[in-house]
Amino acid sequence: MAADINAFVTEATIEGDADADGPLAGATVAVKDNISTAGIRTTCGSEMLADYVPPYSATVVDRLTDAGATIVGKTNMDEFGMGTTTETSAFGPTRNPVDTDRVPGGSSGGSAAAVAAGEADVALGSDTGGSVRCPAAFCGVVGIKPTYGLVSRYGLIAYANSLEQIGPIAGTVEEAAAALDAIAGDDPNDGTTRDLAEVEGADPDASYAAAADGDVDGLTVGVPTELFEGADERVVSTVEAAIADLEAKGAETTEISLPSVEHAVQAYYVIAMAEASSNLARFDGVRYGHRSDADGNWNDSFAETREEGFGAEVKRRILLGTYALSAGYHDKYYEKAQDARAWVRRDFEDAFDDVDVIASPTMPVLPFELGESLDDPLRMYLADANTTPVNLANLPAISVPAGETDGLPVGLQLVGPKFGEETIVRAASAVED
Ligand code: GLN
Repeated sequence: MAADINAFVTEATIEGDADADGPLAGATVAVKDNISTAGIRTTCGSEMLADYVPPYSATVVDRLTDAGATIVGKTNMDEFGMGTTTETSAFGPTRNPVDTDRVPGGSSGGSAAAVAAGEADVALGSDTGGSVRCPAAFCGVVGIKPTYGLVSRYGLIAYANSLEQIGPIAGTVEEAAAALDAIAGDDPNDGTTRDLAEVEGADPDASYAAAADGDVDGLTVGVPTELFEGADERVVSTVEAAIADLEAKGAETTEISLPSVEHAVQAYYVIAMAEASSNLARFDGVRYGHRSDADGNWNDSFAETREEGFGAEVKRRILLGTYALSAGYHDKYYEKAQDARAWVRRDFEDAFDDVDVIASPTMPVLPFELGESLDDPLRMYLADANTTPVNLANLPAISVPAGETDGLPVGLQLVGPKFGEETIVRAASAVED
């Protein structure tokens, strides 16, 4: 694996079932390092878990190996998924294979870079606020963020439970969809997964790979003005050309408005940090991972362990999240963010009364140069303006390459209604034709 790209934290193999047949038989898969792999260290890109070896594998890992895929290693990521560039990793940054002076996006940057560099056929990422779609867009590959509840989170080390899903990254829509076929489906170990037989309008026998047929005849594509405002002009024109191409292939486009999304990124960060502050309380030096050698009582040991084990971005978020949840501020920040979340959800529901998919740039910017955004967290957060509304509303979305500008890839995001994965796969496959 290419050392200059640094896509992998750990190279290790879990053999797939040799008797399996189907599209994933013999495929190589890279797994984000916050997804548990039995016997293989799972670091979350953090010093805290640098030596942590899980005793079991995530459901998604077992499903991929059962389908005949071989796991080839664990990929680099922003520490605990907190970032948009893969620069907050304790294992050094990953570089974008398209232009090694640039970031691959994040937080699943190692996964997208592994696919873009040809080091794995497929990769798994996790998407809490864009972390599958952003790196897919920046590296010129395909990434799917499934509907909340379609894919098991059992064995995913949590960042913000109410927002995140594991999703596949691959070179083509069909390959990503085939990986989704393998990992989707309810799991008794994750009570938030849904049995599709009980979901109105969903097809439990759906093959997402089969939906990659490029047929967009009669499909209605909503184009929300708000998700184009403020985006880099080169990104906008590349995405508009891809949408025009969908029109030429038989889709109808219509301008729509999602007024709530201007509050999405703020609401997302309040909710994500609040959940993270609670989730990361478990890293206390007793149960998992790093433990400080410092002498002292429990409070000293807890504080030292966390001082040594967590990086700056993670500490910032634990502090802000704790603040947002604390007595006196809870109503002011956390509850307001939940209200905004409900509004975003309603806006999308209303929009899907009239359209089949919603199209926008995945990221409003081109891939950052390495180091460019690390000292400016606010700028980094704002880059998630188009991806975070989708997580707030628990919807499915795909990022598909729309083309290039100045030699850099641009991603088109297609969002569907809940459990509308077949529709977004179908539309995305027309973009790539
Ligand atoms: N960039 C976003 C964040 O830092 C998204 C992260 C993610 O999806 N894991 O929270």
